[in-house]
Amino acid sequence: NKKKLPKPRWLKIDSTSGESRENYERLRDTVRGLGLATVCEEARCPNIGECWGGKEGAATATIMIMGDTCTRACRFCSIKTSRAPPPLDPEEPHKVARAVTDWGLGYVVLTSVDRDELDDQGSNHFAKTVQYLKKYSAERVAERKSGKEILVECLTPDFRGDKDLIRTVAGSGLDVFAHNIETVERLTPHVRDRRAGYRQSLEVLRFVKEEFPRLVTKTSVMLGLGETQDEVVQTMRDCREIGLDVITFGQYLRPTKGHLPIKAYVSPEEFATYKEIAQEMGFKFVASGPLVRSSYKAGELFLESMIR
Ligand code: SF4
Ligand code: SF4
Repeated sequence: NKKKLPKPRWLKIDSTSGESRENYERLRDTVRGLGLATVCEEARCPNIGECWGGKEGAATATIMIMGDTCTRACRFCSIKTSRAPPPLDPEEPHKVARAVTDWGLGYVVLTSVDRDELDDQGSNHFAKTVQYLKKYSAERVAERKSGKEILVECLTPDFRGDKDLIRTVAGSGLDVFAHNIETVERLTPHVRDRRAGYRQSLEVLRFVKEEFPRLVTKTSVMLGLGETQDEVVQTMRDCREIGLDVITFGQYLRPTKGHLPIKAYVSPEEFATYKEIAQEMGFKFVASGPLVRSSYKAGELFLESMIR
């Protein structure tokens, strides 16, 4: 069945309207001068108004580090692929940290392509970026005698399950360790690169919680790829079993015709049901909705879950 599903009304929205527009515009003007690669802009994320326009101290953005070329080729992802991407810029951790600090975000998500060709798969680069960020942010707070230090989430590769590399990143001073499981177990080989694995991703998150119990662990699942409801619930159970704190669900949207087709548009009601089920299972925080992305309003949500 090749017929294209019609796009439902709940996915047609104006991303930059509403109360947060002013905040968003201020941040957008700042970011233009900083030379940062934001996933928010590059993926034309529909949540940009809400994320960038978040409340004081909670504005969130997702920054891409380690280049724009990935050694893997997941079938849902629009990032370029190469076996030998250009080398890392050794100045990047410092430059990104400087720019993000000057931007004045409350919460930043650092994410990256996978760099399987590097000995450390980029783990030290990730860790250095976090260390500089925390350092510059603390200096900024001290200088101004006001404000809060930035919260840092890293949305990481699986590092092929290598515990030393995972430890390097998880122990770098970050606040939230995120790694996306992306889909249910049965669909994983069909959706993700062959080097990725459902069990391997679970093991990454389990290990982080065990070694660094105070870190918040987080994962994200795309829906609409042909998974059944039972499979989604089973994925939640698997994630709860390893002590995962935060889970998010969003609609898969095909980036181009060359990517996996959308099998279903999951209704807002179904997303709400998944949210209830996940909350009952005991996740600390759940975000679930058609337009939810793994970093959706992460700053605001994180702060809310902390004061609960
Ligand atoms: Fe895209 Fe990540 Fe897969 Fe690379 S590993 S192709 S960046 S989803
Ligand atoms: Fe950026 Fe993520 Fe928010 Fe989208 S959901 S605007 S990518 S921080």
